[in-house]
Amino acid sequence: MNTKKKLATKISTFTPAEERAARSERIEVGEAEPYGWMARSESGAEQDYHLFREPHTKRLACTCADFVFRGNSEPGYECKHVSAVLKYLGRRYLAEDYDPRQHHPHAA
Ligand SMILES: [Zn+2]
Repeated sequence: MNTKKKLATKISTFTPAEERAARSERIEVGEAEPYGWMARSESGAEQDYHLFREPHTKRLACTCADFVFRGNSEPGYECKHVSAVLKYLGRRYLAEDYDPRQHHPHAA
């Protein structure tokens, strides 16, 4: 069976953003006190990171080294924790806050 080799070839063609999105599947996200969110790898190998909305850019910022170093040179950089929190927020918004009638008053 060479399916494993085939899969590895396919993964290497993903963009860095896609690879980060795939890795974000394994990150656990929760609300943090007094504000923001916590992100933790489900493997438990990594520490908890704190995410919050940057007041100036209105984007998420993360306390991990990846974000701190890459974020400085690449504005708008999203580490795997940012990807995970964005997904978490999107799901929660759809489940709890999204109201089609509010955005499209004529929708049923
Ligand atoms: Zn991060």
